[in-house]
Amino acid sequence: MKLYNTLTKREEEFKPIEEGKVRMYVCGPTVYNLIHIGNARPMILFDTVRRYFEYKGYEVTYVSNFTDVDDKIIAKAIEEGSTSEEVAERYIEECKKDMAAMNVRPATIHPRATQEIDGMIEMIQTLIDKGYAYAADDGTVYFRTRQFDGYGKLSHKNIDDLEGGHRSIQVTGDLKEDPLDFVLWKPKKEGEPYWESPWCQGRPGWHIECSVMSKKYLGDEIDIHAGGEDLVFPHHENEIAQSEAANGKPFAHYWMHNAFLNIDNKKMSKSLGNFFTVRDIQEKYDLQVLRFFMISAHYRSPLNFSDELMEAAKNGLERILNAADMLRRHMEKPEDALLDGEADVLAGTDAFVKKFEASMEDDFNTADAVSAVFELVKYINTQVTEDSSRALAEGFYQKLLMLCDILGIIIERKEEVLDEEIEALIAARQEARKAKDFAKADEIRDQLKDMGILLKDTREGVTWTRA
Ligand code: AMP
Ligand code: ZN
Repeated sequence: MKLYNTLTKREEEFKPIEEGKVRMYVCGPTVYNLIHIGNARPMILFDTVRRYFEYKGYEVTYVSNFTDVDDKIIAKAIEEGSTSEEVAERYIEECKKDMAAMNVRPATIHPRATQEIDGMIEMIQTLIDKGYAYAADDGTVYFRTRQFDGYGKLSHKNIDDLEGGHRSIQVTGDLKEDPLDFVLWKPKKEGEPYWESPWCQGRPGWHIECSVMSKKYLGDEIDIHAGGEDLVFPHHENEIAQSEAANGKPFAHYWMHNAFLNIDNKKMSKSLGNFFTVRDIQEKYDLQVLRFFMISAHYRSPLNFSDELMEAAKNGLERILNAADMLRRHMEKPEDALLDGEADVLAGTDAFVKKFEASMEDDFNTADAVSAVFELVKYINTQVTEDSSRALAEGFYQKLLMLCDILGIIIERKEEVLDEEIEALIAARQEARKAKDFAKADEIRDQLKDMGILLKDTREGVTWTRA
């Protein structure tokens, strides 16, 4: 399996640290708002990477953080008169809902910065002890960038060029020994959340959290570290400096970065205001369409968001779902066995599976993998006739399901809950209440909730809605 490594600027064969295991860390969102579709790009892509590794039999430990302490979260809390905990908690919950709707599986672990402060203080202290960091008079702790030999190796920047490009920092960074030094810990400001530390009451800088959470949940040395390309410098460069200086070991073996999602060929970002939230898109499309749109392009190519491309994604997805529907109709036939010659017809799918795998193993070329799925669909459509056996339809369906599942595309139809079924459960709940069996009544309410049915008790009786 080959993947492009930002660190070496070339495609490399993937060799895990431990046979059969992948340890990967993906930088997650700062939670002060609903996520936008730019944030959704790494979520969908690296979820697909994870799914492919699992398909190949790897055990994947996938860690993705929530940055829940940050200037923007604090500003939002002040703006709405709440606390940063409330803001972060709310948007973590909303983010999880968006992830579920895009069929992005929850990470093995979703650590939160505010719950890892002890580990951060410990790593900062190690860096101070080793001479890689220092506390200034106001309690700010800085990383001594020039002390770390490899600085610039990920972004392929020469440290002396960096200094030239950062004159402005020199003006404001008067407490720093060197303009290139970056913050590990900073003193609190009035009204901000803070923690006790050996240097001052304050809070961590952004970069240190990922070094610490990665170390805690994956170890000093990990296989893959990933995120959007805007994170290469300075975030990931700083993470490397912190982790390698503190642990004395190489940090991540492979660095994967997705290109940006643009709008009108301009970077989509919260600060420019030219973004759509995932919720905006959900008003018009099933989020499966958004997922399909994302995987239809290679992750290292910039992708321009447009109505035309979303419509194309919708139509493409529809073609796959129609084939799945057609197969399911055949699968309603009585059980049977493959007819003469059908074994060969079924074996004809191998070529498409091979093409799919070859595409994914070529630096996760999901665009070509999607083409392989289309070719499979075309093949299925031409091979299945009224006379085909149910066994053949089932065989085809399993292949289609297997490939779509790697891409995170759901081809199974959600079971539609019938009105009669709902009414019967509501009647049973009323019976239970009459009999004062409130535990049972609550149980039925929960059962309905799991089916996506919400109840409301009114004076006129019970009404229900679909969630
Ligand atoms: P943030 O909340 O800004 O730290 O972003 C969370 C993740 O989304 C990071 O991996 C970013 O690189 C990524 N990201 C943000 N905007 C975009 C975009 N327009 N296209 C692709 N990835 C993005
Ligand atoms: Zn990070």
